[in-house]
Parts: sequence; structure tokens; C-alpha cells
Amino acid sequence: MPGTWTHEFKTDLFKGSAQVNTGLFINGKWVDPVDGETIDVYNPADGSVIGKVSCGSAKDIDLAVNAAKAAYKSSWGLKVPGFERGRLLYKLAELLEKNADSLAAIEALDAGKSFQHARHMDVQDAINNLRYYAGWADKTHGQTIETTEAKFAYTRHEPIGVVGLIVPWNFPLMIAVWKIAPALATGNTIVLKQSEVTPLSALKLAEFIKEAGFPDGVFNVVTGFGQTAGQALTEHPLVGKVSFTGSTLIGRKVMETAAKTNLKRVTLELGGKSPTIVFDDADLEQSVKWVCAALFHHSGQMCAAGTRIFVQEGIYDTFLRALAGAAASIQQGDGFAKSTQQGPVVSQVQLERVLSYIESGKQEGATLVAGGARRPGAGYFVQPTIFADVKPDMKIVREEIFGPVGVVVKFKTEEEAIEAANDTEYGLSSYVYTQNVSRAIRVSNAIEAGTCFVNVGSVLCPQVPFGGYKQSGHGKEMGEYALEAFTQVKAVHINLGMNL
Ligand code: NAD
Repeated sequence: MPGTWTHEFKTDLFKGSAQVNTGLFINGKWVDPVDGETIDVYNPADGSVIGKVSCGSAKDIDLAVNAAKAAYKSSWGLKVPGFERGRLLYKLAELLEKNADSLAAIEALDAGKSFQHARHMDVQDAINNLRYYAGWADKTHGQTIETTEAKFAYTRHEPIGVVGLIVPWNFPLMIAVWKIAPALATGNTIVLKQSEVTPLSALKLAEFIKEAGFPDGVFNVVTGFGQTAGQALTEHPLVGKVSFTGSTLIGRKVMETAAKTNLKRVTLELGGKSPTIVFDDADLEQSVKWVCAALFHHSGQMCAAGTRIFVQEGIYDTFLRALAGAAASIQQGDGFAKSTQQGPVVSQVQLERVLSYIESGKQEGATLVAGGARRPGAGYFVQPTIFADVKPDMKIVREEIFGPVGVVVKFKTEEEAIEAANDTEYGLSSYVYTQNVSRAIRVSNAIEAGTCFVNVGSVLCPQVPFGGYKQSGHGKEMGEYALEAFTQVKAVHINLGMNL
């Protein structure tokens, strides 16, 4: 029988017990994986193993996909009216809201987040997205199209069928919901492959989905490794679409596999090396705070992190000093401590990866102005780190580090800043700080990225699309645009009197 993971939280910020089913959730039931394997779950704040969950394989993925296919044919899709799909999504949002604190505690513990951030950002954003797409469920429809008097033509927005959702470890619940909410609103059934590093919140979500009353098989979760479970989901011939969020390296692989198997549709939300441009006329105090937040939130493990910071020469010295001071003052610690502003990175692997980038920055001759080391003691903590005097071809300038490390570069003119900002294979996000509205719009238009934030950090809204240019991926999540990612358009032509 599948087990249960239980944890007693006795912290100032959250007291209470949390339970999570550790089986696979297939066809509305908790089941053991066919091979009986498990995955260890770690607490990144101290490196200890806190539990085990099931490790699904290709065999489990096959069972889950078949359950999703059967549910699509029998009890979901357009057979269920949009208002009913919406009602279930509203119910799910209510359940998340009712259990928001314990869900946030699970997420904070598993991913090494600050509990406050998990509660007021991750879980709240998931609730907001569920409500937003619940509203869309009965409002997405086709058109009637004028052609000739002899023909009646219309379009339908049909679901794709079974969709595979593959999610990373940095915002495990929130990113899963960015995909789940529009996929269910438009009538698809789901197999979710959660990251092996942070499996707990998706399993908890499955309990709420069952309680909300979604028919069995509409939503399935298989926890497991990428090369096995993730690969099997991407290869499966009954899966009509894969929506993937993760690294550019694996995204490329997902696309290749999809092309080689059944040419399934693919949405890719990939990595970034997002530019931040701070002009001389920016509000210095506010821009330092926002730049810091967009760089160091969740220890820099943010796809949209503003890691390349271009500062105009008139304020360069003052800005750099203020940014280094702000970085040094960030309180690191366990996510459940009141004073904690920044937790650890997610795993030993990630810790080593981030430290090796810091080492390469030092060796390539960049000047360290803040941080630059692991925090002594237990847990995977890396000091908020800033480098200056970098060259465009350094590894720390070109590659996504996915940790609390930023580089600062001086520039003279707007043209020079735009050119440097666009000198990257990525194009996920960007940030501009200036009080000149014309310049803000001009620069936003010139930057090659899917999102441009002006005088603000990475603050997203469910109504506004998010997605990459260049090698940061294609397709959009959130907003009306995400509905297109989970539907296909059928055109119907009806003869009103053309005879042969
Ligand atoms: P990753 O690419 O290693 O893994 C992502 C997911 O893919 C995991 O669930 C993993 O198990 C699975 N996977 C691994 N190999 C697979 C394979 N062969 N086939 C199918 N699935 C496979 O990424 P990560 O380390 O979990 O997350 C960090 C990366 O995610 C960073 O590059 C970050 O920029 C990116 N990210 C992007 C966005 C966005 O919206 N653009 C958001 C968050 C994270």
C-alpha cells in the first residue's frame, strides 16, 4: 500500500501537522510504482533526508497516460460543459485557499523557500491562476466566419486530449498550476511529471483535485526521474502535447523526442540570462531594491532572474556600492525563521554548480564586490554574490547560473546598453529602470525578450502572458494566450446549396 509522509511543524511562522500521500496518483487512486522504487526527499536548509516518495518509471507513465486517455473519452473534454469545468476549478482554488498555510509549509520545506514567500507568492499565485482560468472555462469558443451565401463555416476550440506536463524544482506548485489550470479549463486530461527534487506539493495538490470532484483519470501525477519517467511521457504516442518548463538543454531534448515520435505539440519555458538596464535618471533607492529582489529572490533560482546588470556611468559607482551593501545585508537562514529573507539553494548538486561558477568568475579575473562563498555550516547556502569588471565572454556573463550570482557592467549610451542586453542566446525577461517614459518604451521595444519590466522586479499576474524569445523557449503561459497552448482549432464547412 502506498504510504503517507507526515511532518510536524513547530516553528513560529507555522505550527501544525502536514501529511502527503507518497504513492503515484493514477486514475483517482494512490498506487505503488510498478517497480517499487522510491526517491529520497531532502530538506535543503540542513541537507537531511526528510522522507521518500514513489519513483515512477515508463511502466507507470504508460498506466497514467492510458487512464488519462480513457477519462478524456468518457468523462471529460467538451462532454463536460465549460461552466462545470470552471466550477471544479473554483472549488479547487477554494481548497487551496483553505489549506494555504500547510501547503506553503510543505513547499517551503521541500524547496528551501522562505515560508512567507511560499505562502504569499507561490501558493497565492496558484490560487489566483486557478480562479483566472476557471473564469475562462466557459468563455473560450470559436467563431462563425462569413464566406459565401452557399456555405456556413465555423471554428471550434477543441482540447488536445492527453497532455504531459513536466515541471522544474524552483516553483514546483506554481509552475505546475500555470499549466494545469488552462489545460483543465479547456478540457484536456493530464499526466504531471513533477521534478524528482521537489515532489511533495504536487502530491498534495492531487489530494485536493480528488476532493474537488474532478472525475478519476482527469489528473494523474507520476513522481520520477527525468531520464526515465519524463522521457517516457515525452515519447508516449497517446500524449498529444508536452508542456515543459526546465533547462534549455533538456528542452531541446524534449523537442527532439517529440519530433521523432508522434510529432506532439510542445511548449517550452526554458532558461534565461535576463538583462537589467539602470539609467542615470532612475530612482536610486527603489531601483536598488527591485534589482536586488529580481536577482536574489529564492536564492536566484528564478528563470527570469535579472542577472546581467548594466548601469549607466553617471550613477555606476553609487549604484554598485548600494547594491553590494544590499546584497551583504540579506538575512539567510531556515525558511521558517521570521528574519529569513533568503533560503538555501535546492540541492547539493545545485550548490556545487553555483560555487563552480563563482570560482570561474574569480579565476577569469572579475572583481568580487559581495559574497563569493558558501555560508559556513549545514545546508546548501550560498552568499548573495555580485561581480563587477566582467568581460562579455566570461562564463558568469554568458551562462545561466541559477543561483544568487549577478554581474554588473558600466555603459555610456542607450544604444550600447541595448546591444549588450541582447548579446545572449536567451530571451526570457528584462528590466529597465528610468524615469523617462519615452526611453522606457523605446528600450522595452528594442529588447529581445518575452517580458520587459519597467521600474519593477519580476512581479507576474495571471492575466499577463509569460514566455521566452530565442533559446528561452516558445509558447506562452498565463493570460488568454495560454488557452491557445492547450487547444486546437477545427474549421467546419457546411454546404448550404452548392450542387455539383
Ligand atoms: P531540468 O531541465 O533539469 O528539469 C526540468 C524537468 O524536466 C524535471 O522534472 C526533470 O525531471 C525533467 N527531465 C529531465 N530530463 C528529462 C528528459 N530527458 N525528458 C523529459 N523530462 C526530463 O531543469 P531544473 O534543473 O529542474 O530547473 C531549472 C531550469 O528550469 C533552469 O534552466 C530554469 O531557467 C528553468 N526554468 C524556466 C522557467 C520558465 O518559465 N521559462 C521557469 C522555471 C525554471
